[in-house]
Amino acid sequence: MPDTDRPVYLDYAATAPVLPEVAARMAEVLAMGLGNAASDHAAGRAARELVEAARAEVAALAGCDPADIVFTSGATESNNLAIVGTARAAMARGARPHLVSLATEHKSVLEPLRMLAAEGCALTLLKPDADGVLPADVLAAAIRPETCLVTLLHVNNETGVAQDIPALAAVCAGRGVPLHVDAAQSAGKLPLTARDIALLSFTAHKLGGPQGIGALYVAPAHRGRLKPRMLGGGHERGLRAGTLATHQIAGFGLACRLAAARREREAARLTALRERLWQGLADLPGVLRNGRPGAPHILNVTFAGVEGESLFKGLPELAISTGSACSSQSGEPSYVLRALGRDTEQAQSSLRFSLGHGTTEADIDAAIRAVRRTHERLWQASPARPAPQGTGRGEWWRGEAGAERLGTWVRFSVRVEEGLIREAHAQYYGCPHTAAACSLLCEQMRGRSLNFIELGTPDLWRQAVQAPIEKLGRMLIIEDALNALRPVT
Ligand code: PLP
Repeated sequence: MPDTDRPVYLDYAATAPVLPEVAARMAEVLAMGLGNAASDHAAGRAARELVEAARAEVAALAGCDPADIVFTSGATESNNLAIVGTARAAMARGARPHLVSLATEHKSVLEPLRMLAAEGCALTLLKPDADGVLPADVLAAAIRPETCLVTLLHVNNETGVAQDIPALAAVCAGRGVPLHVDAAQSAGKLPLTARDIALLSFTAHKLGGPQGIGALYVAPAHRGRLKPRMLGGGHERGLRAGTLATHQIAGFGLACRLAAARREREAARLTALRERLWQGLADLPGVLRNGRPGAPHILNVTFAGVEGESLFKGLPELAISTGSACSSQSGEPSYVLRALGRDTEQAQSSLRFSLGHGTTEADIDAAIRAVRRTHERLWQASPARPAPQGTGRGEWWRGEAGAERLGTWVRFSVRVEEGLIREAHAQYYGCPHTAAACSLLCEQMRGRSLNFIELGTPDLWRQAVQAPIEKLGRMLIIEDALNALRPVT
């Protein structure tokens, strides 16, 4: 909430805080002293009843038969079971399977696919168009006689782009190829049915349910074409062994029921908030919206010309993401945005805002204010701005080094009068440590003689601004810019 010290939470695509009703229900179930849902006594039967009631609630969200829902630990496991399970079953039939997917899929889809490719499966990773969309004719052209599975996200977790699943499912159905859809981001947000779909992945924690529980819908016709990944106990019709987590399943069921009941109103509310956020940012210089607007809750924006880490670190009052939570630790530019045609710097200067049940207009307005303030500060120093032009006396010297493409660019502009530096300015495209080191040097330069400028070493500057050792290279670029200082002719 904007009026407390807590950051405004705009990271619902990473996880949505558990709905209070769901938390209360889970606590209630935990306190019931239930048995194992697989046991044949009263305590076990009581747990089983709760599990089956929740199974029906999950199935209702997908418009499918409860008997076709398999509980898993989340969408990662559901995706692995769907993809690896289908490919392994095809391999067991003696085929060399071919799988088709999209380059912008979630890593829990791409990594199992890469593992299968290393094991000898053929893999086609299609490129979306510049809006992030997979046209149905592109999919149709990729399907081969030996294709055992097409696997696609419904809603992309980074951009919110929604694929036209009914059209793509019709292509697959027409060719007799099973389709797996990862609905982790779309369930409860967009209309969804299991029609013409063989496998459908869900997770509870994106819709206000608990983390660590999810489901896979398995169409009856596909059941015999799926090899389980988890063995031992024959739970979930032999497709996923392991004791069922009754309290999590009960929470998941309730979250699905609430999401289904609130979906239309909530989707309209979130869409309006998402557009309010976009309208509040759209006029900033260098701003680009990523992907065709799809899911109501996700807005992904590139802020070209300002460096990504500085932008992100300059927004401590917002809980947002620079990409998917799974890849934001890696520091790599988003492969999803690259596939939409953004270059490395643009991909790194992008933020994902994701909205949910607790998001208010006040949150959105606070986010707009925070981003505009930080953007203004970084834009003033950015390479896109002209170097300061002197009005004071004396002569201007300028020194520049690095490149945006390298992640660091620095330009010093100093005004020298009677041999002394009277003004020193830095422009930069770089991390917060680069910015801090440039500011420190500007302070130290003022009043000194240009000829006898003695400002320490890059390693000392690194220590002064508490930059980690791997940032020494950036300090060397700053040194290069200082060494390049020459009079402006
Ligand atoms: N698929 C998509 C599209 C996601 O956004 C996520 C979560 O980040 C997952 C799969 C993984 O879900 P879980 O955290 O339930 O394993």
